Amino acid sequence: MRIRPVLDDILPYHPPRLAEEISVDRGSKEYVKLTMNELSFGPLPEAREAVVESLARAGRYPDRDADPLREAIAEANPGTAPENLVVGNGTSEVLVDLMQILDRPGEIIIPWPSFPFYVSAASVVGLRTRKIPLDEHHRADPGAMLSAVTPETRAVILCNPNNPSGTYLPLEAVRSFARALPDDVLLILDEAYYEFVADPAYMGSHELVLASNNVISTRTFSKVHGLAALRIGYGIAPERLADYVWRAHVPFSVNQAGQAAATVSMRQTEAIAERSGLMKRERERVQAAFEAAGLEYIPSHTNFVMVREPPMVFEKTGVLVREGEALGYPVGWSRVSLGAPEENDRLLAALS
Ligand SMILES: *Cc1c(COP(=O)(O)O)cnc(C)c1O
Repeated sequence: MRIRPVLDDILPYHPPRLAEEISVDRGSKEYVKLTMNELSFGPLPEAREAVVESLARAGRYPDRDADPLREAIAEANPGTAPENLVVGNGTSEVLVDLMQILDRPGEIIIPWPSFPFYVSAASVVGLRTRKIPLDEHHRADPGAMLSAVTPETRAVILCNPNNPSGTYLPLEAVRSFARALPDDVLLILDEAYYEFVADPAYMGSHELVLASNNVISTRTFSKVHGLAALRIGYGIAPERLADYVWRAHVPFSVNQAGQAAATVSMRQTEAIAERSGLMKRERERVQAAFEAAGLEYIPSHTNFVMVREPPMVFEKTGVLVREGEALGYPVGWSRVSLGAPEENDRLLAALS
């Protein structure tokens, strides 16, 4: 067998405390899992019902184009039409589809530390990544990213807000960045944490997308919608770009139960706003407790916080968090996902 040498350096994704994390995924209450920025509440009741109803049709292939789901997403983003929407098996698949359509060889510019999947996914499809350090406030540095653009650059990924730092750039800064970028470079705005940002000056990237021919916003049902296991992500793109993404897309990769749940969840705007409101309040509470304990942390605009305290400290009260060094931060830092209030109580109990 002749395997591409680039794969020798890529390891399958493995969290460090795999057994404990899996025990939580299977329903054990021994640990609280705050490692993957999931929403502890899971799907809304209406989305659960939609999954059950969809099972009667599980013998048939899913809707290949995810039409009802694309309509629901378009309604939520005024000015967009289903033709502007691509859907994938999680944002992860949308990102891979995007990388597949880029000309090779070539390079993708990313902020760093950021989402490690960008690096492994790019290598697998045969693209290099160039990591541009965050600025001193742990924010993506648009100026430095622009300076790194060369004729080899095929795309820039702006993770906004950025995982794992939790920082964001307002829409105006993203707009100037997009304007300055050459037209033949794709700009991917990974907005997995869109719904957790409180600043109105952040909102509205779909308008920027519609006025461009090279910008896509990707979002997900894995976070605020609590549907991580059903694997639904989407991208809002100019029509021509969306058309190319569908060409690269694996047919039927987006399952029927997930489509049904996501379509219903997208229309529960009040319930979703309530959830994101609760997570914002929990974020303030947890950060205030970090402050009171004298811990260094990065003020977050997401459902997680980077804090200078080793994971072992939180394990005292049975709370699992992600260790900073797995995410490009120094040893001694942790990325703490925000859970339900009682889970966050357990997290904070470890500090006293
Ligand atoms: C969680 C997350 C996603 C979502 O990935 P899915 O494949 O939709 O589950 C995308 N980007 C970033 C940066 C994330 O943290």
